[in-house]
Amino acid sequence: MLSEQKKMQLIPEGYSGEEEDPGLVMSIILHASVIAFPFLFVATIAYSLINMYHQNTLWFLLLSLPIAWVASDFLTGIVHWLCDTYGTVNTPLFGQTLIRNFRSHHTYPKDLCISPFVFTVGHVALVGLFTLPLAISVLIKYPSSLIASSIGFTYGMIILLTALTNQFHKWAHLEPEKVSNTIKFLQKHKVILNPEHHNIHHTRPFSNNYCITHGLNNPFLEKIHFFRKIENMLAKLGINKST
Ligand SMILES: [Zn+2]
Ligand SMILES: [Zn+2]
Repeated sequence: MLSEQKKMQLIPEGYSGEEEDPGLVMSIILHASVIAFPFLFVATIAYSLINMYHQNTLWFLLLSLPIAWVASDFLTGIVHWLCDTYGTVNTPLFGQTLIRNFRSHHTYPKDLCISPFVFTVGHVALVGLFTLPLAISVLIKYPSSLIASSIGFTYGMIILLTALTNQFHKWAHLEPEKVSNTIKFLQKHKVILNPEHHNIHHTRPFSNNYCITHGLNNPFLEKIHFFRKIENMLAKLGINKST
């Protein structure tokens, strides 16, 4: 029998040595979400594009794609900052699912590297399972509405990029020899999260570069002290940081 101390010595740095186990019910829900997500995503995008085509408003894609590109990165930054800064692992609904994962990621950043794909992208796919059917029903009900089709398309792209974010995040933490040249190329050109850029977040007090889709929002948000200003505003309202 190995002693606890010996076991700890055998675990490589950055790993907790614990296996990710969301439980049977959650595991089934995450698998179902990941299977259903591509169909719901394609239906949302297809209905949006067909509606735009009939409205002669396909030009809106020139606006929608950059909006989705910026918004998905910003959204991941907001969620990451909230989970790193407010609440505890005992916070209802989000404590055990989101907050615990984000906080333990600072201590054990490599655990993400061995997380199965379904658990990596599943939580955002689950959000898509609830919201994309709603988007599809609106697109079917209002085929001539530019507002419906533009929001439907933009939202579809945002949720796709957000769902893929944890995979991008995972690649940023993987040992370089385990990352393909194509992914390295995308990382280098900041199409997806760049490892060196993300490493800045992994230095104490873990309070900058929160955006993790491609991170291109981070320099601007850091320059205007965006998150510190929001924290100060919330503190004036009596909402204080937990870290
Ligand atoms: Zn963090
Ligand atoms: Zn990380």
